[in-house]
Amino acid sequence: MLGRVLPRYVRVNTLKTSLDDVITYFKRQGYANKGKARSIEELVDFAQKSGKFFLQDLHIPNLLVFPPSTDFHNDSLYTSGHLILQDKASCLPALLLDPPVGACVIDACAAPGNKTSQLAAIVQNKGKVFAFDLDTKRLATMSTLLLRAGVTCQELANQDFLKVNPCDPKYQKVSHILVDPSCSGSGMPNQMRVLTDEAGSEKEERLQALSAFQRRALSHALSFPSVQYVVYSTCSIHQQENEDVVKDILQQHPDFGLVNVLPSWPLRGLDTFAGSECCLRASLTETLTNGFFVALFKRRSPEERRLYEELKQSDLHQEEASNRENENKDLVISDSSVQSKRKSEQISQDSASSTKKKRKKKKRKTDQS
Ligand code: SAM
Repeated sequence: MLGRVLPRYVRVNTLKTSLDDVITYFKRQGYANKGKARSIEELVDFAQKSGKFFLQDLHIPNLLVFPPSTDFHNDSLYTSGHLILQDKASCLPALLLDPPVGACVIDACAAPGNKTSQLAAIVQNKGKVFAFDLDTKRLATMSTLLLRAGVTCQELANQDFLKVNPCDPKYQKVSHILVDPSCSGSGMPNQMRVLTDEAGSEKEERLQALSAFQRRALSHALSFPSVQYVVYSTCSIHQQENEDVVKDILQQHPDFGLVNVLPSWPLRGLDTFAGSECCLRASLTETLTNGFFVALFKRRSPEERRLYEELKQSDLHQEEASNRENENKDLVISDSSVQSKRKSEQISQDSASSTKKKRKKKKRKTDQS
């Protein structure tokens, strides 16, 4: 387990080329196509090897898997934006959000933009991808990356997403939002040591600040009037930034529920609230990726909302009933403990009186003799 290494994942940019064309290209370059992977174990075996061959991923279409030592930084397909070097787990949010061709989408915290370019590929450069980021430098890098990837449907803004007005007519048609906010990065291999090196309270404070921002960003996304789907992701392994955020947001936004995404994915959200199994987790040991977390929110239809309220009420009733039952049980227990106390008092009284009687009898016998 410990010796596992990440393979080289390569996403085919369908804005510039097709999977078939890329496969043909690599075959011409002398790489053997080993077909589509059937299991994560097969990928694990594969990642131990070196040589000129590749597999197609079993979960993500348009994702090729090469041995870890393969370097594409100077490959003409990479430098021309036909290929994007992106970890498998980080392909999940856009894939699961899956906006239809021509949709209006927001990428809330977008730079350096790998997910933005993936979203643009999914909507086929039609419609609109509004992308926000606070960091000017990262946004400049993103601009270059998107240009190279052939993205044309984007509108970049060096802006705080929390200050974007959801009621601005410009965002009236936004139906899908991707929220991939700043996080501890604890799922990234080089971040794990940094984080374990941090002093406990320092780490706690940092996690609290990050998760407060994550809650605000996610909540803000859910407030866009036409939004139907919002995907939330982090490259963190901490419950505070993942399940805890999702749980609180679900409580604050009863209009939204979780979608049970990618049922074949082996690693699910930590069992910390009802429905947490709808979320995905990713890790080097279980899924051969960086550590990652994804949850997909869907706006409930009026019918779903009605059912949800009914269920909630009946759950509340049940909870109330079971609380009352427990209260009664407590009473029963205290009653019986009182009874048993009484009983034991009775027993000791009985035995005390019988002892007294026995003593009296013995005394009488002695007196007689
Ligand atoms: N989604 C990006 C990708 O796949 O390439 C990675 C995003 S990174 C995890 C988080 C980004 O959020 C950083 O670039 C950071 O500058 C940006 N950010 C932080 N606070 C923000 C805010 N209030 N509004 C918009 N962007 C913000």
